[in-house]
Amino acid sequence: MTVNLLEFDLEGLAGFCDQLGEKRYRATQLFRWIHQRGASDFDQMSDLARSLREKLKSRAHIADMRVISQHDSVDGTIKWLFDVGGGNAVESVFIPEDDRGTLCVSSQAGCAVGCRFCSTGHQGFSRNLTTGEIVAQLWFAEHLLRQRLATPNRVISNVVMMGMGEPLQNYSALLPALRVMLDDHAYGLSRRRVTVSTSGVVPMIDRLAEDCPVALAVSLHAPNDVLRDSLVPLNRKYPIAELLETCARYLSRAPRDFITLEYCMLQGVNDQPEHARQLIDLVRGNAKSKGLRCKVNLIPFNPFPASGLLRSPAAVVAAFAGILGDAGIVTTVRKTRGDDIDAACGQLAGEIQDRTRVDERMAQQRIFMMQPVQQRQFEKRGHTRDEQIER
Ligand code: SAH
Ligand code: SF4
Repeated sequence: MTVNLLEFDLEGLAGFCDQLGEKRYRATQLFRWIHQRGASDFDQMSDLARSLREKLKSRAHIADMRVISQHDSVDGTIKWLFDVGGGNAVESVFIPEDDRGTLCVSSQAGCAVGCRFCSTGHQGFSRNLTTGEIVAQLWFAEHLLRQRLATPNRVISNVVMMGMGEPLQNYSALLPALRVMLDDHAYGLSRRRVTVSTSGVVPMIDRLAEDCPVALAVSLHAPNDVLRDSLVPLNRKYPIAELLETCARYLSRAPRDFITLEYCMLQGVNDQPEHARQLIDLVRGNAKSKGLRCKVNLIPFNPFPASGLLRSPAAVVAAFAGILGDAGIVTTVRKTRGDDIDAACGQLAGEIQDRTRVDERMAQQRIFMMQPVQQRQFEKRGHTRDEQIER
């Protein structure tokens, strides 16, 4: 068994080099080859001594993701379905915009939180991804896109941990992965441009503040505990007041001066004016709670049959946004992207349950790999998907 070098942040790689009897600066060189240049073959690494390259060949490898399928949307969004073994698959989605490229990354195969409106949640939990599997999504997408666009420059400027899974329930794998994303010798992303989205794992929000404060998005979805208990079961363990206090603490370490509250608009469930008014009271605070500096991001629900839920009509979403806006709360409505390829949030699991067509998809993938990039897909970058993601 050789070691997958995508499992390591720079510190970890330095430890590995140490075991090989190599100096620390070798780890930096190796790290740059892997993450900045996308190298997976040690023979490419021309400034490493031949003896080291031989040692690496016998002890290490760089594990690429196995692509089951790739779907290109007319709006430029690209979705990949990756095989992570044992009948499990996860997805990543690339969303190009005029001034940035965002990759939506998965942290788990399935999810144990089981939110009512989320198709990943309906799937149940399979397993945590390793650091290497989280990093590999970025490594794969970044270097494939550079190749397709024939550019040596960075294509992915933002990462959002909004794919499948609850990242803060896979903290030990997430933390080194975040460090790789931020490291100047790897992807060098700004802390403001890496967003962890959570359903509210309170103790781990505090840990993140200590260990690696990046932008934080909290999936609130309801303005009172009774309703949130029914939508996000984790609320029974960490109710809203506790969650918002933790968010307020996070702000003292956060790279931005607000927390994003995500709110999925479900027809007749959480989208009424009364809910908007309760939400205003929550974030403004009262005698007991101090309130929270935040932005609210309203997400049109992506329906799937098993949920039994419907998307709120656009007029209802606009009215809800209007009430919040009138109260001085910065509110955005997420534009859906990649609708034609089911790339939108919450649809990530849909395809996975249908494993019967894997062979067909593999065949499609081979055809795709032989096609040149459709440049126009990157030129048609009309929409802002999500205002809260740093420009
Ligand atoms: N587990 C984390 C991150 C992954 S989910 C979290 O819950 O925050 C990413 C975002 O997609 C969350 O805000 C989630 O609530 C939202 N989402 C899940 N299912 C959805 C659906 N069917 N329609 C719209 N948004 C959905
Ligand atoms: Fe898990 Fe997030 Fe889906 Fe809830 S919304 S089930 S936490 S992935």
